[in-house]
Amino acid sequence: MIGIGVTGTDTGIGKTIVSRSIVAALRGSFARVAAMKPVESGGTEDAESLWRATGMVYPMERVGPVSLAEPLAPLVAARRANTPVDLGVIDDAFERLCADSDAIIVEGAGGLLVPITEDESYATLFRRWRLDLVIVAPNRLGTVNHTLLTVRAAREFGIRIRAVVLNTITDQPDGMPERTNLGLLRELLPNIRVIPFAYTLAPDDASNISLTSLGLDDAP
Ligand SMILES: [Mg+2]
Repeated sequence: MIGIGVTGTDTGIGKTIVSRSIVAALRGSFARVAAMKPVESGGTEDAESLWRATGMVYPMERVGPVSLAEPLAPLVAARRANTPVDLGVIDDAFERLCADSDAIIVEGAGGLLVPITEDESYATLFRRWRLDLVIVAPNRLGTVNHTLLTVRAAREFGIRIRAVVLNTITDQPDGMPERTNLGLLRELLPNIRVIPFAYTLAPDDASNISLTSLGLDDAP
C-alpha cells in the first residue's frame, strides 16, 4: 500500500496539480488509486478534481468528506461556521478509501502546520495516517527558506519525506532564483529527492512526474 500526503510550503502553489499528476502516474502501474482532500475550505473544487483524476470510482463524500464555506484555514472556517471538523468522519473516509485501493494520495490545505482542529494539524494527521510526505514548493524567490522550514517541521514530527517537488508556477521565462533554486535545494537537502516540475496545463497527464523520480517504481 502506497500512502502519500501532499503538503505545500504555502497556499495556492500547485498542490492539486502535483497531486493529480502523481495520481495519473500511479494509475499507470496500479489498478486502484484513490485520492482525498480531507478538509476543503471555500468550496469543493480540489476534491472534485481529485475525484475526476482517480476515475470517479470512489464516492465523493469520501474523497472530500468535509467542506467549509469560507476560504480560510480549516480551524478558522470551522469556528466561523460553528461546525468543528469531525475527525471521526475524515478518519472513516480515509480508512474506507484505503480498504479499496492500492495507493492513496491525500492533499492537505495550505502548509504542514495548518490547524484542522485545536489538537490536529496536517502534520499530526499525516503522521497518524502513516503517510509519506511530498512537499510542493513554488519555484520562486523565497522558496529555499520555506522548503527548509517545512522539511525541518516534518522531521520534528517524525514524518518521512518522500520528495520535494519544485513546481514551475508560471510560463514566464526563469529569472536567477528560478535557475538556482533546484541546485541549491539539492545541495542543502542531500538526502531528499528534489524534483523539478514543469509548468503544465494538463495536470492529469501521467508524464508530468515519474514514479521513478518519487522512488515508487519498485514499490510493492
Ligand atoms: Mg489544492
